[in-house]
Amino acid sequence: MSSKKRLVILGAAESGVGAAMLGIKKDFDVFVSDTGPIADRFRNQLTANQIEFEEGGHSISKITNADLIVKSPGIPPTAQVITEVLRVNIPVISEIEFAFRFTDSKIIGITGTNGKTTTTALIYHILKKADLNVGLAGNIGKSFARVVAENKNDYYVLELSSFQLDDIDTFRPYIAVLLNITPDHIDRYGSMENYVNSKFRIAKNQQATDHFIYWSEDKNITGKLKTSQIRSQLHGFSQCCNPDSEICIENNQIILNNKNQALMSIFDLAIRGKHNLYNGMAATVAAKILDIKNEVIRQSLSDFQSVEHRLEKVNVVHGVEFINDSKATNINSTWYALESMDKPVVWIVGGIDKGNDYSMLNELVKQKVKAIICLGTDNRKIHKAFKNIVSDITDVASAEEAVQVAYSKGKKGDVVLLSPACASFDLFKSYEDRGWQFKNAVKAL
Ligand code: ADP
Repeated sequence: MSSKKRLVILGAAESGVGAAMLGIKKDFDVFVSDTGPIADRFRNQLTANQIEFEEGGHSISKITNADLIVKSPGIPPTAQVITEVLRVNIPVISEIEFAFRFTDSKIIGITGTNGKTTTTALIYHILKKADLNVGLAGNIGKSFARVVAENKNDYYVLELSSFQLDDIDTFRPYIAVLLNITPDHIDRYGSMENYVNSKFRIAKNQQATDHFIYWSEDKNITGKLKTSQIRSQLHGFSQCCNPDSEICIENNQIILNNKNQALMSIFDLAIRGKHNLYNGMAATVAAKILDIKNEVIRQSLSDFQSVEHRLEKVNVVHGVEFINDSKATNINSTWYALESMDKPVVWIVGGIDKGNDYSMLNELVKQKVKAIICLGTDNRKIHKAFKNIVSDITDVASAEEAVQVAYSKGKKGDVVLLSPACASFDLFKSYEDRGWQFKNAVKAL
């Protein structure tokens, strides 16, 4: 019998395979099991590293003899295999928890309903510019476990979804950022309360020397803060200056330390939109905690390249601007996209709706949208929501058609905005696929 501890990993995508790589490095006996087919690049990595795996189903007997189970974030807690392992009392943790156990580096963890990727990339960008030895991981690019297996960084900036936070146990970020909480994933959580609790798990192990950065104008956050016993130091950011906020906006300036010091003009931020002001403020507070100079923060905020598919400027064709915001898969993110538009908008919207209440967009649509193009297989809800506000609504069945129709409706000085407020799986493989098809169609005009 091997004296090695047996590590079973459920799910063989980036998190699972990253955990497997760290597992072999830490001398576990590793077995990876996936209910579905494993993508070639992950299968090749497992084979090249002689890691035992199975795909297309779980062999329960090979799983229930584990000492420790790492579960990929996509597997719901109600999955049959989870029920089976819990019955035999094997500890189940997330890949984030597993990786955390093998590093003593300082962690900056970012969560929230929207803005995680952008803020994570922004904080990483600032830390890099400040010459810190920093790694980037989590939901963005490489998994945390893979990064811990590959290098040793002094800091890790991690994008954390609520699914990744669900199975943490001792995970403790030095800086936790909670950007916002609006309804999402209620299908998995059952209630808004459970979803809010899940987001707050980011702070559950923090101590007095740690820091918690949060949006102090978000009612879901401030409501929960009143009843939670967070031990770390609280740092609020907000648009309006108030006593709970360390950074805010006044006279179009980002103000630090409650009005004592202007950091920079909001017009010098490289990324547009009110939401990006919030993301920028959250990132600034994190940088200040790490003693990064204002000059470095200013430079970083003014030369940060927006992340692909998030209000990404694609091209201007005969005076019509095209913007790809394919990552906007809920109403809240589309609200911010429309809010940031300062030209008449031809709006491309639609896809798989996760229970959208479109009326939240009525005011902005009334003010800014001249035509709507519905890019989904079932667009009835969109027609119903906006038929009394916008007279020009057209259905299309592909990104290419959407771009052509939008272009025909656009005049010089207009903007065509793909900000679907919906998931993409009815017509596309992913939101990235939707964004790429949109961009290719724009380039072909
Ligand atoms: P996430 O990783 O949380 O999904 P992203 O940075 O990928 O967040 O952005 C997703 C969508 O939300 C994009 O359409 C983006 O423009 C929008 N967005 C970004 N930051 C925020 C924010 N703070 N509040 C609301 N929407 C945001």
